[in-house]
Amino acid sequence: MRRLKCDVAVIGAGPAGLAAAARAKQSGAGRVILLDRDRELGGILNQCIHNGFGLQLLAQELTGPEYAEHFIAEALDCGVETMLNTMVLDVTREREIIAINSDEGLMHIQARAVILAMGARERNRGAVTIPGTRPSGVFTAGAAQRFVNMEGYMPGRRVVVLGSGDIGLIMARRMTWEGAKVEAVLEIMPFPSGLTRNIVQCLDDQGIPLYLSHTVVCIKGDERVEGVTVARVDENLKPIPGTEWDIPCDTLLLSIGLIPENELSLEAGVELDAITGGPAVTDEMETSISGIFACGNVVHIHDLVDNVTREACTAGEGAARLVTGQQPGGANVRTRAGDGIRYVVPQQVHVENLADRDVRLFMRVTRPAENVRVEAEIGGEVVFSKFERVVRPAEMVALTIPAGKVSRQAMAATASVCGAGGAHRPGKANPQAGPELVMRIAVRDASRKGGKEA
Ligand SMILES: Cc1cc2nc3c(=O)[nH]c(=O)nc-3n(C[C@H](O)[C@H](O)[C@H](O)COP(=O)(O)OP(=O)(O)OC[C@H]3O[C@@H](n4cnc5c(N)ncnc54)[C@H](O)[C@@H]3O)c2cc1C
Repeated sequence: MRRLKCDVAVIGAGPAGLAAAARAKQSGAGRVILLDRDRELGGILNQCIHNGFGLQLLAQELTGPEYAEHFIAEALDCGVETMLNTMVLDVTREREIIAINSDEGLMHIQARAVILAMGARERNRGAVTIPGTRPSGVFTAGAAQRFVNMEGYMPGRRVVVLGSGDIGLIMARRMTWEGAKVEAVLEIMPFPSGLTRNIVQCLDDQGIPLYLSHTVVCIKGDERVEGVTVARVDENLKPIPGTEWDIPCDTLLLSIGLIPENELSLEAGVELDAITGGPAVTDEMETSISGIFACGNVVHIHDLVDNVTREACTAGEGAARLVTGQQPGGANVRTRAGDGIRYVVPQQVHVENLADRDVRLFMRVTRPAENVRVEAEIGGEVVFSKFERVVRPAEMVALTIPAGKVSRQAMAATASVCGAGGAHRPGKANPQAGPELVMRIAVRDASRKGGKEA
């Protein structure tokens, strides 16, 4: 078996893995190896030929492959080594990787730091158990996207899309442009799951109807899908008897969510967050296992690739800080989702980092709201907040706490409770320990607009 050693091994060469590998190398790591099972670098971006990527980070509206190209060039230019067609089979807590490809066979890679960047996979029919027959013509939206954009096949001509996530919306437009008739997009929730810009550009502009609070209750057809029965749902998301009607179609596309791809993380013993489905991480994107980092969709599902890249740069820098002996020591403060917030990433923040560097937090809200403040509170004191005109579950909220914003007293209190010295890993935190960094949505002083205030 071929044996390799490196400072940093990155698993997955999508936008997360590319940016993490480049940043690790640029931040002082020695040998950095980037592994992917696919035949090309770029991950899911290679099939996303629509534009809308990079608006925030590169101030350009790029297609997925163009956005990937930018970061592929950066990674290769700075000396990241790549291994394609290489499937990672196993990762251990000692940061050993077992990978395989057809040229080399099995490989053993011993890394000083590992970055998990395996992305996510789509939920399929089995995940929501739709009654009916089992004809051909039922696809996940991402699989259909690959057929149309990369393989040159049309999955069908008369289409219904279940779920209003971004992939489903983009595929509704794509199928229309390719000559199919998209009859409807159905969303079980009372609000859309995708970005507003995608609702406007992919549905409204194409004349495709969106039915909120609706779902498919039966798939019909023998060899091929012949139609679906849809129904309105109540506030418990249960179909309301008597509201059913049939839509004839030959194709049902499912856009019902993504699941972080964490089989390798679990094998290694990394602790997962029950809400995000991804590893619980510190603000350096380090998991519960020392030296194993994670970023991108493997940690939590992102709507914008710009945030994937930002998070990946943090992970790459974190891994480089570990291998160059510059990792922060001392205590961590845990983050917690308060009123109106579903989850917060990272799950822990180094107290030392709160003093010395900007710390970015990503979160999702539980329900849509307008004119609110997103507040960060420690020990009953709001340490930072920002105004948001609109928040929606579909759109991730990012909040950057500038260096030094948290008062010395609050940090001292935190340090004395969490204890100093030695890594305080996510998952190993004492559930009773506090105070915490609580994120919440507040409406009380929302009228005071403007981005930042303490
Ligand atoms: C259809 C679609 C449309 C989108 N549209 C937009 C948009 O308009 N604008 C925008 O900003 N964002 C958009 N996004 C979101 C953005 O593209 C994703 O958030 C981003 O691509 C996630 O990056 P990632 O690197 O975490 O995962 P991925 O891109 O999925 O990369 C993961 C990589 O890991 C590899 N891998 C997994 N397991 C293994 C293993 N065991 N061994 C080796 N390799 C492995 C995979 O092959 C893959 O290459 C869209 C996403 C999709 C799916």
